[in-house]
Amino acid sequence: MQPALADALRETMAGAAFIQGPAVGEFTTELGAYLGGAHVVPCANGTDALTLALMSLELLAGAEVIVPAFTYVATLEAAALLGLRPVLADVVPHTFNLDPTAVEAALTPRTGAIIAVHLYGQCADLEALRRISTQHGVALIEDNAQAIGASYRFASGETAFAGTVGEVGTTSFFPSKNLGALGDGGALLTRDPARAALLHQLANHGQSQKYHHQRIGLNSRLDTLQAALLRVKLQHLPAATAARQAVAARYDAALTGISGLRVPARDPRSTHVFHQYTITVADPGRRADLQHFLQRCGVPTMIYYPLPVHAQPAYTYLGYQAGQFPVAERLCASVLSLPVHPRLTPEQQAYIIECVGSFFGN
Ligand SMILES: *Cc1c(COP(=O)(O)O)cnc(C)c1O
Repeated sequence: MQPALADALRETMAGAAFIQGPAVGEFTTELGAYLGGAHVVPCANGTDALTLALMSLELLAGAEVIVPAFTYVATLEAAALLGLRPVLADVVPHTFNLDPTAVEAALTPRTGAIIAVHLYGQCADLEALRRISTQHGVALIEDNAQAIGASYRFASGETAFAGTVGEVGTTSFFPSKNLGALGDGGALLTRDPARAALLHQLANHGQSQKYHHQRIGLNSRLDTLQAALLRVKLQHLPAATAARQAVAARYDAALTGISGLRVPARDPRSTHVFHQYTITVADPGRRADLQHFLQRCGVPTMIYYPLPVHAQPAYTYLGYQAGQFPVAERLCASVLSLPVHPRLTPEQQAYIIECVGSFFGN
């Protein structure tokens, strides 16, 4: 273990303030400073962050929440649990992110929120989504579990960190995320101090002070221990992000010419923090063969996500049919994520590239 992490563990045990200890406030202040001065409200995990974000909007029961058809299920699970209605919108094939045209088509008088997901580490079309949100008076929530530290440039020249553009942003410190704890953790991001105070309250049993409860809240806290570990991890985040970007640039250079696959597209308005480096296989029929071939070469790959949301048994009640979200369905059949972690060596990567190339006959 890194000595700094061991120190954080020892200090937390010595301090014995396991809940709401000083490291929680220190970590959230430091993360807020890293994210350009946003307010950061800690909570237990990224799924709770989505639940709390929606609770803070105080939507009417049955209100609709527009979510991408291609995402991790937590994005809509929170809405469904709160008695809100997830409404799916398809994504853009090359960026994998929410298609603003599909969002506009999904708006109804009952729409209460849009949840944009910055999938794999690159911002969704925040320019268009923010405009839609403002024009229609519908809140924008950013599920930023995969893109902590990414930034976005608007046409006006204004730049903002992912998660700080909409009413509320959410993130996750699940161990495999770019800023990962050694257990569960999450946070909410907002520029609005009043909303930050509300979110704080909601995450702590809706209490204004101990044993005084203004609202029905959750017990959703970030452990002191995870906060202490995250303080150490946060110091390494810029270097880890740069390492991921360097790995991605080498993949781009080596794989761009290979017919049969497509490298992930870059949106010039967004930086990309490469939570995943995800290629699409031109012939979906060959993806399983590629994955097995790479497995035999000793190269681990993953499919995020094999099934679109509307094909999940838990969400058939929404009444969608196969074929309704063709882009999401095609992506589920054709995406493959290659290793992109910050400690991947150039030698290991050269081997991976050679394996991918030889599969496609290059
Ligand atoms: C990981 C993730 C979540 C959930 O975060 P947890 O901390 O695991 O609850 C939500 N949305 C997306 C897009 C994620 O990748």
